[in-house]
Amino acid sequence: ETIVLSDLAKRMGIKANEMIKKLMMLGVMVTVNQTIDFDTAALVASEFDYEVEKARFEEDAVLNIDSEDDAGKQVGRSPVVTIMGHVDHGKTSLLDVIRKTRITEIEAGGITQHIGAYSVATNRGQITFLDTPGHEAFTSMRARGATVTDIVVLVVAADDGVMPQTVEAINHSRAAGVPIIVAINKMDKAGADPDRVMRELADHGLMSEEWGGDTIFVKVSAKQNQGIDELLEMILLQAEVLELTANPERHARGYVVESKLDSGRGPVATVLIQEGTLHAGDPIVCGIHHGKIRAMLNDRGAQVDEAGPSMPVEILGLSGVPNAGDEMVALDDDKSAKQVSEHRLQKHRSLELAKTSRVSLEKLFERMQEGEVKDLNIILKADVHGSIEALSDSLTKLSNEEVTIRIIHAATGTVSESDISLAAVSNAIIIGFNVRPSAKVQAMATEEHVDMRFYNIIYNVIKDVKDAIVGMMESTF
Ligand code: GDP
Repeated sequence: ETIVLSDLAKRMGIKANEMIKKLMMLGVMVTVNQTIDFDTAALVASEFDYEVEKARFEEDAVLNIDSEDDAGKQVGRSPVVTIMGHVDHGKTSLLDVIRKTRITEIEAGGITQHIGAYSVATNRGQITFLDTPGHEAFTSMRARGATVTDIVVLVVAADDGVMPQTVEAINHSRAAGVPIIVAINKMDKAGADPDRVMRELADHGLMSEEWGGDTIFVKVSAKQNQGIDELLEMILLQAEVLELTANPERHARGYVVESKLDSGRGPVATVLIQEGTLHAGDPIVCGIHHGKIRAMLNDRGAQVDEAGPSMPVEILGLSGVPNAGDEMVALDDDKSAKQVSEHRLQKHRSLELAKTSRVSLEKLFERMQEGEVKDLNIILKADVHGSIEALSDSLTKLSNEEVTIRIIHAATGTVSESDISLAAVSNAIIIGFNVRPSAKVQAMATEEHVDMRFYNIIYNVIKDVKDAIVGMMESTF
């Protein structure tokens, strides 16, 4: 925060010369048109019995967040889909076969570009697919406050069934409140047993419609390009139920799904538009960076002049490379864009502080008292299934009127990086039973301020949580 000396003098009703004299006596040499920083302004003002206050910057006011009227302007938009599932179950193959067979050569100009997302047209409408499969990208985006996915397609190999990452994907989708469509893949294989997949998923709360549940299951073979049309149709069916809409007539907002520094083109980001329409030449803010849209390219590598809701576009013209998950907002003028980005840069520095407000057992009671916390979310990792069952049961039973204890994810195996991400976005603590974390995971937990605890006696787990709830937990530090 700075101010031009003549401005300050004028606002205080003092001659600029007098102020310069005073500053000289204080040992500061300035001229009329020079800017002085906040501390200097405060000092010289106090000499004249004035107090200066820092101008509060209201980002939302500059961004015009609520000033635009969406009433009557909402129109349908196409769904955005992320493919998740266990490694080797066919996520990449599925994305590839959809891309290859549903985007015509002519349309693509022979080459489809990998920009982080692509959209395909079907008879019944468009679908946008995020090109980074798996729940790591999904969760790290969500950790940054961006939920861009409308529907998750959970790929399960028919010859392999439900695996640990299948379960993780289910829990991550649930935590984000995103509906799941199951694609039973590799139906062409000799060992394909779709009934087994359906049974195993039913155990995890995904019951197929033919068994009286409400989850859509589609049998596919990515390799043989079978069942893909049906899968796309089901995605659109699910999208209809979700009634996805957006107002294309307002300033554009969207999220970065991929970014890079291109040696020839400078910072390049792929953004997925959520609201409004982005135009070439629009001033934008993107994370801590700003700029003016110099050019926009679609997923076929073609230059476009505008991009509407659910459309992924590569944008050029930013001052720096934003992060995946950063929000992009279009503004009226360059000055506001620059202001917002400068303000964010400052806020960015204090953001680290926010992490310290994550839930911990030690601070649980205090925060319950302050009315800040009503749920204690727990991620449970243990060596054997038996311990998980015993712990889940006993822990959830500790819920009382003040606090609800929820096991949001439980699995055998050691604590993983993805557990830490899930804990961070869901404000959960992690309890490990008879498992040890790797140094990398430990470091990540510390960095993210996620409370992670390890035990080998069930009684001690229960005791700690019980004590934490009533504020009797003894500090271990
Ligand atoms: P990802 O790790 O989930 O992305 O899995 P990939 O798409 O890389 O597939 C893993 C392996 O399974 C590859 O060797 C694929 O060729 C194979 N695969 C994928 N889909 C099918 C399918 O429908 N049928 C058969 N037989 N193999 C498949």
